[in-house]
Amino acid sequence: MPLDVVEILAQLVRIPSVNPMGKEVEGPEFFEHAVTAHLEQLAHSRGWACERQTVAPLRDNLLISLPGEIPPQDGGELLMWDAHQDTVPIEGMSIPPFEPNIADGKLYGRGACDIKGGLATMLAALARIAELPQRGRPTIVLACTVNEEHGYSGARALTELWATGKSQLLPRRPDGIVVLEPTSLDVVVAHKGVSRWRCHTHGTAAHSSNPAAGVNAIYAMARVLDVLEIYANEIAPTLAEHPLVGQPTLSVGTIRGGISVNTVPDQCTIEIDRRVLPGEDPLAAQEAVITFLNEEVHESVRHSHERPFIHSGGLSEAHNGALARRLALAARKHGASGQLIGVPYGTNGSMYSPLAVPTVVFGPGSIAQAHTADEWVELAQLEAAVNILVEFGASRGE
Ligand SMILES: [Zn+2]
Repeated sequence: MPLDVVEILAQLVRIPSVNPMGKEVEGPEFFEHAVTAHLEQLAHSRGWACERQTVAPLRDNLLISLPGEIPPQDGGELLMWDAHQDTVPIEGMSIPPFEPNIADGKLYGRGACDIKGGLATMLAALARIAELPQRGRPTIVLACTVNEEHGYSGARALTELWATGKSQLLPRRPDGIVVLEPTSLDVVVAHKGVSRWRCHTHGTAAHSSNPAAGVNAIYAMARVLDVLEIYANEIAPTLAEHPLVGQPTLSVGTIRGGISVNTVPDQCTIEIDRRVLPGEDPLAAQEAVITFLNEEVHESVRHSHERPFIHSGGLSEAHNGALARRLALAARKHGASGQLIGVPYGTNGSMYSPLAVPTVVFGPGSIAQAHTADEWVELAQLEAAVNILVEFGASRGE
């Protein structure tokens, strides 16, 4: 029985799965659990094998498998398609976030584009492939992952799962991974990774009527920021250049310091975002910035650095050539450009690519509509994406 991609998408948009983005929150709309339960039920109704992997409370990765001709343990091809279950928050939206509305060939709602459209696409494609002869078919595992939008912990947990060999459905490393994200049906072969961390300056508190008795941590941070600005403008762009994604960057995104205007602050904290090129080590990138600060900031300024709270290595085109060509071929057969491109944003691919697993990013919808106030996806792209994944997944690679 076919699964209608638009209907699945509408159902998924109706079930909130908002990522709290690291904030303390409560409420039924948060976390992925309700979507996970829905997907699991859908899989059971089709007779597909399922497996949960708990990543955090209310946050389970869900694996759904359609066996191919030869089991992966016996040398059969194992493809994994990954789409995350979480969406970004709904603040500032100009449409009802959880009431899918279809108009002008588009479906509107939170996650329609990023990436419940992709989730629906891979489910509908799997239902079509299940109707085709098993002969010559790879094993396809859908990985419905948690927490893509704030740290990739779901994808990271999956890599640990296949490394332990404890999973029935993912008994070994996949031979190829397609990460569903809105790429307008282009095939993304490279993107940057990131290292994000907190930097503190330390001073001594004092009454502001006698500032000389203290050491002002905000002034200290000003010295640090001057040097970071030099690093961002003059050092980072000279470190390397990638033909598809450009140069590394550095940006300071937040600053916090002081408790009241009449107190000399003893602490100031910033958050630093250092985008790394595919193949660049995000921890080494942080080290290099700290070394530069140690050399350039006056030694009287006391600064310290936490280990990155998010670090990912990016998507490298070093291993994904054959996979990308196979997907591009399928895309062209169904009216898409099949272009191989690089993009500036990060995806779950950052967790898979550094392990040398051939990984590409592909999906319906434009990244320009992701996370927006009136998020939507074009229905024609959804249908095309299903056809492309069916073509891609219905037969073995070379
Ligand atoms: Zn996404």
